[in-house]
Amino acid sequence: MKPLIVANWKCNPTNLDETGRLFNSIKAKVKKIKNVEIVICPPFVYLSKLFQNKNLKTNIKAGAQNCLWEEKGAFTGEISPLMLKDLNIDYVIIGHSERRKFFKETDEQINKKIERALVIKLRPILCVGETKNERENGKKAQVLRSQIKDGLKKVSRREIKNIAIAYEPIWAIGTGNSCSINETMSSVIFIRKIISHLYGRALAENLKILYGGSVTSENALDYVKEAGANGLLVGGASLNAKEFVKIIKSLLV
Ligand code: PEP
Repeated sequence: MKPLIVANWKCNPTNLDETGRLFNSIKAKVKKIKNVEIVICPPFVYLSKLFQNKNLKTNIKAGAQNCLWEEKGAFTGEISPLMLKDLNIDYVIIGHSERRKFFKETDEQINKKIERALVIKLRPILCVGETKNERENGKKAQVLRSQIKDGLKKVSRREIKNIAIAYEPIWAIGTGNSCSINETMSSVIFIRKIISHLYGRALAENLKILYGGSVTSENALDYVKEAGANGLLVGGASLNAKEFVKIIKSLLV
């Protein structure tokens, strides 16, 4: 399975010039790479500038960091999945822990977003993961199970093929305190078991499960080779073109 590497730029960079430079610098350095699927998720406002150029020749796919659960209507400040589709966006991150924490997104809303994104033929990346507190109190399994079951409610066997799940322990995000390879491996296995229980073994085996949380060029390969992740969701390190490209290239061995 080709590893999937997703850059989550979050609310960065803060101007178009810098965003263009970052994108172009990554684009130039990865143009010959075929064995890794590369997705960049910039802030909404930059999506059309980066990806709508008719002469754009790139192997980088476009992703959004969020979307609404409806196609249109009275939802001030929101972005519809139809708008994303119209810009030829392929992927959409859904249920990132920062959205759950700062914008109080619930599993029910996340589920509605996933359902709608699938109808519009976007590929959702469902983020799941436990807090430090939940981990220390032995609640990790329970948290992962309910985030996955509730987030994927009513998602059919046919549709699950278009979803990726990102395991992102919240305590590892942006902290430099990445999850150990052993712990990641057992979480990846556990997530696959949940999916197997819900959708059967064959679909579970084909599901892309990513790891996210303080990934660097030093640890990237271990998550894929040793921990069994099918790719990575990269935050901070994806804002540095050199480091992000190093992460991608580290997987080519
Ligand atoms: C993220 O926000 O999804 C993430 C993985 O961030 P970082 O790589 O900075 O930990």
